[in-house]
Amino acid sequence: MYNLYFFIIISIFVLSFVWGQVLSYLNRKRMSPLIPKELEGIYNPEEYAKQQDYQKTNSRFGLLSGGFSFVVILSVLLFGFLGWFDDLLREYTEQFLVLPLLFFGLLMLANAIIDFPFEWYETFTIEERFGFNKSTRKLFLLDGLKGILLSVILGGLILTAVLYIYQYAGQWFWLLAWLAVSGFSLVMTFFYSEWIVPLFNKQTPLADGELRTAIENFARKAGFQLTDIYVMDGSKRSTKANAYFTGFGKKKRIVLFDTLMNDLNTEEIVAVLAHETGHYKKKHIIYSMLLSVLTTGATFYILSLFLENQQLAEALGGKTPSFHLGLIGFSLLFAPVSEILGLAVNFISRKNEYEADAFAAQFGLGEALVSALKKISVQSLSNLNPHPLVVFWHYSHPTLLQRMHAL
Ligand SMILES: [Zn+2]
Repeated sequence: MYNLYFFIIISIFVLSFVWGQVLSYLNRKRMSPLIPKELEGIYNPEEYAKQQDYQKTNSRFGLLSGGFSFVVILSVLLFGFLGWFDDLLREYTEQFLVLPLLFFGLLMLANAIIDFPFEWYETFTIEERFGFNKSTRKLFLLDGLKGILLSVILGGLILTAVLYIYQYAGQWFWLLAWLAVSGFSLVMTFFYSEWIVPLFNKQTPLADGELRTAIENFARKAGFQLTDIYVMDGSKRSTKANAYFTGFGKKKRIVLFDTLMNDLNTEEIVAVLAHETGHYKKKHIIYSMLLSVLTTGATFYILSLFLENQQLAEALGGKTPSFHLGLIGFSLLFAPVSEILGLAVNFISRKNEYEADAFAAQFGLGEALVSALKKISVQSLSNLNPHPLVVFWHYSHPTLLQRMHAL
């Protein structure tokens, strides 16, 4: 068990945890009871004290939950638990579909059970204390069950397809698996709003009125075919506001959280929509899908080189190389590469955010967008002054200050 792979996996896992903690430490040290100069006036003193408290509470909670899962996973790796678990299941079945599905299914279930108390605490203690939570205990449990059911069905479906390909496609495994997974995620993006969202939320077309007219006026000016504008009942879970763009072609739609409509005025909402339209017009959605399809292909190819690896299975405490042990071993080894890919994706995403902001500004909506962003930031008690390294590493959006300067 204690071969080279074992030591590489443990080192990667420990280093990435330590690095994550360094970043949060840098962020905590940067917290200040003073509001950055350019943002003076967006908070009153009590609200700002609350924001600081919220940031600190979340950071401490992150340390606790992150530390806990670090200890659990490290023990699993050090004691070769995954291999032991594989052996145990093999006493009951060695069937090529049943064994890996059972293996992943039960691990997923264990993960959900371990996560549950943390999520419960976060929703009903932290978010509740700061006035964000609107979810009831019943709704929370129902959401959790639906989530598990959905990942069993969807995850089971795609895993079954990949396992079949692995069994029968030989050297073409990576290519066919890539096509299958990409096709699956394309279909999911296409039907996300119609199949998945209704399981959790109600979406109603935005009613005629001042807001709809203003949005349609903007769409005409921008030369944008926009028929599907929906309002979603985000307020049944949280007071935090959001808006997003989904789908493409005929299936594209803009979704506004009802909470956003309570907090912003008409011009500000149009500015937020103009930003979202910018993402579409500048083809960010297509490009980011393309990027993810390409990285999926490369990942599958490298994965295919590791699946039959005896030493990798042994490093996890197993005896026989198998698809499931190979996949887990690979994802642990591949973590630094995923991290670098993530950095690149975040970098591109931040660049796209500036472009979408600039698009909104072209239509004279720059000022309205700044005031909308300020309101959203205050309303969700966002961090005004994160450490630049944390922004570089984790942020998919530039900070409020950076966006204000650019606008
Ligand atoms: Zn954006």
